Amino acid sequence: MSYPPGGLRDQLAHVGAEAVRTGLMIGSGGNLSARAPDAGQCWITAAGSWLDRWGPIEFSLINIPDGGSHGGHPHPHPSSEWRLHTETYARRPDVNAIIHLHPQTSVLLTALGYDIALITSDHAYYLREVAAVQFDQPGSVELAVAAAEAVAGGVNALILGHHGCSVLADSVELAHKRVVNLEEAARTTYAALLLTAGQPTRVPQVPARFLEAVDRGEAQI
Ligand SMILES: [Zn+2]
Repeated sequence: MSYPPGGLRDQLAHVGAEAVRTGLMIGSGGNLSARAPDAGQCWITAAGSWLDRWGPIEFSLINIPDGGSHGGHPHPHPSSEWRLHTETYARRPDVNAIIHLHPQTSVLLTALGYDIALITSDHAYYLREVAAVQFDQPGSVELAVAAAEAVAGGVNALILGHHGCSVLADSVELAHKRVVNLEEAARTTYAALLLTAGQPTRVPQVPARFLEAVDRGEAQI
């Protein structure tokens, strides 16, 4: 299936519906955003949205980074976690889309102290590195700042302890691919840990020479 055409809100709505349909999380577990071109603002899902029941009215246009005025338009209130998005956009000018979901296996492994292993070439290609921050209150300034600082150096996949993930990209489509691979990597790691009696040292990662070849332009997926 090709990625749907249309505006940013259409693409975000597609991500939400697909995330629920494929079991990444339950219907209200997350929020999505995309940076509006040349505007210093982003579109973000409205407060209380069910990610598989959206229409365009359920997005809000907010300023980066203060979340303020949406220009008098009749947009609904943004997600209570809007700071998580705007703080990251402010720190990462290369990022145009942020997917924040509550994927259970990614959160579970991190809560148990296990790293999410990049076992396949897809995992390594799309994720490269998975970082984590400790729990802080969802929607808080503290969590938003900690998350933005954790990805400031270029990491695009972040686990928020006991809560969810924040996945970044320069496009909605790439962010979608990354979050799908994040939870799949977590599920594969979970299976590997079961098969290796919980010993992380026995969970194999894709050989380093794969990404070295990607960086040289000699390999792709
Ligand atoms: Zn959340």
